[in-house]
Amino acid sequence: MIEDKNPQRTSLEELGEFGLIEHLTKNFDIKHSSTLTGIGDDAAVLDHKSKQIVVTTDLLIENVHFDLSYVPIKHLGYKAVVVNLSDVYAMNADATQITVSIAVSNRFPLEALEALYAGIETAAKLYNVDVVGGDTTSSTTGLIISVTAIGEVNEAEVVLRSGAKVNDLLVVSGDIGAAYMGLQVLEREKEVFKVNPQNQPDLDSYTYIIERQLKPEARKDIVELLKKLDVKPTSMIDISDGLSSEVIHLCKQSDVGVEIYENKIPLDPQVISTCEEFNIDSTTIALNGGEDYELLMTISQEDFPKIKGNPNLTVIGYITEKNRGMHLITRGEQAIPIIAKGWNALENQA
Ligand code: ADP
Ligand code: MG
Repeated sequence: MIEDKNPQRTSLEELGEFGLIEHLTKNFDIKHSSTLTGIGDDAAVLDHKSKQIVVTTDLLIENVHFDLSYVPIKHLGYKAVVVNLSDVYAMNADATQITVSIAVSNRFPLEALEALYAGIETAAKLYNVDVVGGDTTSSTTGLIISVTAIGEVNEAEVVLRSGAKVNDLLVVSGDIGAAYMGLQVLEREKEVFKVNPQNQPDLDSYTYIIERQLKPEARKDIVELLKKLDVKPTSMIDISDGLSSEVIHLCKQSDVGVEIYENKIPLDPQVISTCEEFNIDSTTIALNGGEDYELLMTISQEDFPKIKGNPNLTVIGYITEKNRGMHLITRGEQAIPIIAKGWNALENQA
């Protein structure tokens, strides 16, 4: 579906392992004073002085987490970095370094890895993180990418999942459900393409949702905004598996209940129109879709005036006593229990 615009294919064997690492990482510069030694030694040396360190890692497997028939490989590199940084920001921390490990089969020419690393480099630049190491090895099946992100935070600023208190407001950044609907459109086009490879898809009315799927952003800006507004969330999590699943994590770990108002959930108009076209309920998508990489947080009622009217932050509900359970209050004022239908990585396995 994605045309190969670069027909040149240099085999990885021509460079050898060390030549390949050198070639792929030559453009990475060091931006943080906390990076004392980056790529090139046996291990990176970091010095975060008096800050606390957060560390998070993700593993992405071809045909489990991504499908290269419609994901441009440069976007994949970008996304692999962004999904990790999102976890760092969800701790209210600043991301400073990443490591990138890849396993590749001989199906991939050098040019494909150059594109992958161009995406990694673009994300590293934009989010201001140093690439300080990784590992490179071969795979017999497809492409595997693992990114580890390191961040720093002042001890007093760390935000955990476990701090939500009764009467806190439940707040979400941006809008949700778009990445999932983007995936539905891409999957549909893939099927059309299989039947008729001549068919040129017209994706104009889906640009936002496809971009949300292929090129998600991590909400570093929200962490900065909260600092500027002088709001420290009482708990926070990033939305990777869908609003339901994440709100359940917050409630379980904080020992509280929640009420979410259906009519408050922020949806982009393209999500609404695409849901209508696919005949799916947009609230179901917002609750269970996933891959939004927005931040879901609770804030104390006292902080409400500071976020009121901010277009980046929407209050969608509030925290209750645990014994009141977790409910969605529908437009018809019915209380429906929230259950996790989040995408389960193990579901695909035989
Ligand atoms: P070792 O044999 O000790 O694992 P390598 O030869 O694999 O060392 O790596 C040499 C250097 O290159 C190390 O600093 C390592 O972190 C870095 N590196 C290896 N592979 C990658 C990669 N895919 N991306 C970024 N850095 C890498
Ligand atoms: Mg190695």
